[in-house]
Amino acid sequence: MSNIVAIVGRPNVGKSTLFNRLLERREAIVDSTAGVTRDRHYGKSDWNGVDFTVIDTGGYDVGTEDIFEQEIRKQVQLAVDEATSIIFMVNVEEGLTDTDQEIFELLRKSNKPVYLVVNKVDSSKEELPATEFYQLGVEKYYTLSSATGSGTGELLDDVVNDFPTTDYKDPFEGLPKITIAGRPNVGKSTLTNALLDVERNIVTDIAGTTRDSIQTLYNKFGHEFVLVDTAGMRRKAKVSEDLEFYSVMRSIRSIEYSDVVILMVDATLGWESQDMNIFGLAQKNRKGIVILVNKWDLVEKETNTMRDFEAAIKHKIGQFSDIPILFISALTKQRILKAVEVAMEVYEDRKKKIKTSKLNEVMLPVFEATPPPAIKGKYIKIKYCVQLPTPSPQFVFFCNLPQYVKEPYKRFTENQLRKHFGFTGVPIEVYFRQK
Ligand code: GDP
Ligand code: GDP
Repeated sequence: MSNIVAIVGRPNVGKSTLFNRLLERREAIVDSTAGVTRDRHYGKSDWNGVDFTVIDTGGYDVGTEDIFEQEIRKQVQLAVDEATSIIFMVNVEEGLTDTDQEIFELLRKSNKPVYLVVNKVDSSKEELPATEFYQLGVEKYYTLSSATGSGTGELLDDVVNDFPTTDYKDPFEGLPKITIAGRPNVGKSTLTNALLDVERNIVTDIAGTTRDSIQTLYNKFGHEFVLVDTAGMRRKAKVSEDLEFYSVMRSIRSIEYSDVVILMVDATLGWESQDMNIFGLAQKNRKGIVILVNKWDLVEKETNTMRDFEAAIKHKIGQFSDIPILFISALTKQRILKAVEVAMEVYEDRKKKIKTSKLNEVMLPVFEATPPPAIKGKYIKIKYCVQLPTPSPQFVFFCNLPQYVKEPYKRFTENQLRKHFGFTGVPIEVYFRQK
């Protein structure tokens, strides 16, 4: 479920071209943290129905050869630390270089699957020159044209096939999984510790064998819940300028394990692009979301401070703004119990299934009263609806002309579902289908 594929290689071999192809029609989440490196990218993709996260580990603006060496090492280390599998890309036009060999040596020492991909094989002409890469001592390489996409199928078949199957039995199956996410220094550890102090009955602390996650069971006002943390979170980033990126990488993993994401925002800094990235990750993964504005003790308050702060966040997060926002202090423990209660409510709402009879009884009259606008004289009639048995709420509306139901009407439908059935903090999917 939480597989990460990293694309590693020298600049200009075609990493971002492949990355963009894998994310086609899926919106990339762009990390524009400035630094020595150019922007790095990560996003969700899938192949044969298997979801995975792709990282383009980026190229580097080469200053001197020395810096280049260092940067390559960091990039490779990042891939080795964080990824499930590594696509190592080389370029047939340039042939095998010393740097390729060095990178490959580093990758080979990891015990992660490494796929050697010879890119820019745009036609059969380049197949022969590609054989040069056998010198790396591999049994198999993949030829690819990132530009046209040819070869990606064979590569992805193998990558996805080799994902570790989990024989790991979740000891907390069926319990609410919550992750506390947010930028470095926002107060995640302080909150985690504050929750511990409150009860002091942490039951167990198990490192998932294959999945690298740490789950800690809490028992709070009659609620049992599990805080999910990734193993990586406990060791500090090795590379300080990569702190931001590391923290987002970890968020990707722990978010995928969780049902609800508690997104902590620093009240003294306001809502920043990194907050939006994490929010986007949670939303795309259809997780429940609670926003906690932390360090509220540091804010000079006037009558409308809270209201204005909340409005500013809702404005920035856009369409899906039916999210609980709480103002807390992890340090003074102000409202932290409330925060947990709200997270549990979101968890319950995300699991909630509306009976088909009830759903139709409520929604059909809504559609009757406000039908989708007719298109080219054709009337759209919605006849029946069901909620799918998925982990997060998804609804299918059967009608005669689903292709004519446009985005604004889908939003209207979602809002009506929220109005009648709740689902605060829970992403909803709405589909229109031919009966
Ligand atoms: P990165 O630095 O490794 O991310 O490389 P880019 O993806 O930015 O690609 C570098 C250049 O190679 C760009 O001009 C691409 O258009 C080109 N390129 C990428 N993939 C292919 C390919 O499969 N065939 C050819 N002919 N050019 C490619
Ligand atoms: P993390 O990197 O997100 O885990 O952040 P930490 O929990 O390590 O907190 C970073 C710093 O912010 C520490 O010095 C905390 O004491 C401080 N901090 C965390 N929460 C609060 C809060 O609610 N109020 C104040 N004033 N400081 C806080």
